Amino acid sequence: MENETCFHFLLAEDPGGSHSQAVVATAKELQEFISEHTASSKEGFVCLLCGKRFATFDSIRVHARDKHVNADIVYLCPVCQKYFKTRSSMSGHVYIIHPEMKGIDLDRFARKKW
Ligand SMILES: [Zn+2]
Ligand SMILES: [Zn+2]
Repeated sequence: MENETCFHFLLAEDPGGSHSQAVVATAKELQEFISEHTASSKEGFVCLLCGKRFATFDSIRVHARDKHVNADIVYLCPVCQKYFKTRSSMSGHVYIIHPEMKGIDLDRFARKKW
């Protein structure tokens, strides 16, 4: 399931004209999702949607964001035009391949998959 996957997608259009970049869930939406769909126990955190367990809050936050909240989103590298299924994989790519882009707002490159 690594790279080379060709997503058929349309650039997120903006029918209302008000949210040209509102593709990715906001921090608040993510927070609400997490409080509704995850539970914590003494072994760590569990995602109630898929049953996966995570040792830290940060790892379940990344999981919820990439696998559920932003599941229909892909990230497009502006330099090599590659698509990434998750923000984390795009961020790893940028870190290794384009260190000059480190710290850039990756959400700017999010696109709806369909
Ligand atoms: Zn899950
Ligand atoms: Zn790239």
